[in-house]
Amino acid sequence: MAISVFDLFTVGIGPSSSHTVGPMRAAHAFVAAFAKRGGLASVSGLKVDLYGSLAATGRGHGTFTAVLLGLEGYDPETVLPEEVDRALARIEQTGELQLGAELADAQSDDAQKTDAKRTEPRSLRFGVDDIVLHPLTVLPRHTNGMRFAALDASGNTLDEQLYFSVGGGFIIREGAEEAVLDRLEAALAEQPYPFRTAAELLEHCERDGLSIAQVMLANELVARDEATVRAGLAHIWDVMEACKNSALERTGVLPGGLNVRRRAPDWHRRLTEQDPHRDPVFWQEWVNLVALAVNEENASGGRVVTAPTNGAAGIIPAVLFYATHYLPNAADWSNGEKQRVVADFLLAAAAVGVLYKEQASISGAEVGCQGEVGSASSMAAAGLAQVLGGTPAQVENAAEIAMEHNLGLTCDPIGGLVQIPCIERNAIAASKAINAAKMALMGDGSHHVSLDEVIVTMRETGRDMSEKYKETAMGGLAVNVIEC
Ligand code: SF4
Repeated sequence: MAISVFDLFTVGIGPSSSHTVGPMRAAHAFVAAFAKRGGLASVSGLKVDLYGSLAATGRGHGTFTAVLLGLEGYDPETVLPEEVDRALARIEQTGELQLGAELADAQSDDAQKTDAKRTEPRSLRFGVDDIVLHPLTVLPRHTNGMRFAALDASGNTLDEQLYFSVGGGFIIREGAEEAVLDRLEAALAEQPYPFRTAAELLEHCERDGLSIAQVMLANELVARDEATVRAGLAHIWDVMEACKNSALERTGVLPGGLNVRRRAPDWHRRLTEQDPHRDPVFWQEWVNLVALAVNEENASGGRVVTAPTNGAAGIIPAVLFYATHYLPNAADWSNGEKQRVVADFLLAAAAVGVLYKEQASISGAEVGCQGEVGSASSMAAAGLAQVLGGTPAQVENAAEIAMEHNLGLTCDPIGGLVQIPCIERNAIAASKAINAAKMALMGDGSHHVSLDEVIVTMRETGRDMSEKYKETAMGGLAVNVIEC
């Protein structure tokens, strides 16, 4: 599979896929590769440089602490929020980092890794303040650059690698791009329905009489059997639900110093009183609540599904909630029927996510918020149109409408925190997605602007957008609102 549904929907921790998950993954990859070669014993020092947007907004996005955790060997997919708190408190208290310690633990737990050289963690004096920041330096490949260097006792460089966090938790190592591209090309060639554009996707559907979800599923089956794919999709939905439910239990203010009050628990209580029997008239309030809850959990560093980024993580769960509660007869569905709806929704949404990854970007630091919230809204619209029984052309139309009305959306979070405008923006974008799907279903799938055209427009709008509005905390709300 070139880009799988399981690449677009991954489990990680908040608040940002590009600024938290990606940097943790990159630091983890650096130390794991070095450990595999048996080099950790010779490491006496570290040098970490962050560039561009990571340096400018990294503090609010948890980048610096994510790097420390990655260097210890924590993996964003498996680390628990309470482990994060414990590890960071220890590092702050001792001033020391246990380089590769979690790799060592994972090796001893996993018999399959016994062929890797045994990793001995190294205690090194290193903390957040040792990370060198270059906010005004944008490296040629991408604004989210990270350079890691391992040093010996004399200060000589043992190994140095440059990574980029390119959105949605995806990372690229400088020098390894060709190999990655070759692997992607090879995987693409194995797929029964390879596609990079919506036109190609629709052609497959038309030729073989398949839905967009069925095309995506057929491609997934190259790498996994159907039971595994369906179990994986069910797990993604479970984590989305758990994320929302966790937020409903947590009161107080969000971390970071902006004093943003968590609203989800209070809204939930009031809504449960006002609407005990799920009257359809209240659908909008419930959708708002789910988006708010997921994004509050993300903003507090909780466990979320990156969908396709963390900043936009509330949109797909909110629209999925709508689908599983307000579609005709949803209340009577068996668990199996509900799982099938969820799977079709996520597969269609992922097919549209592939198009954004292939033709544009899902990184706010690269194309602004239209790439994050806009892409998620477009994906959610496609998922909903799919489970509403839309034809492939109607699903494509839904995705197009949602992005068309998110074009130009900038990224300017206050204080570099994924809170304002991000949390409410997810609720608004979820509503847009629902409206886009409903509008598409009223038509016959024919429309003036194709999804491919709107994706290219988004990419070019992002390219022309002032750098101030691409996750730099240097423009828009980030400078016009006084932090309190
Ligand atoms: S404004 Fe949009 S792109 Fe920027 S951090 Fe918030 S959700 Fe992400």
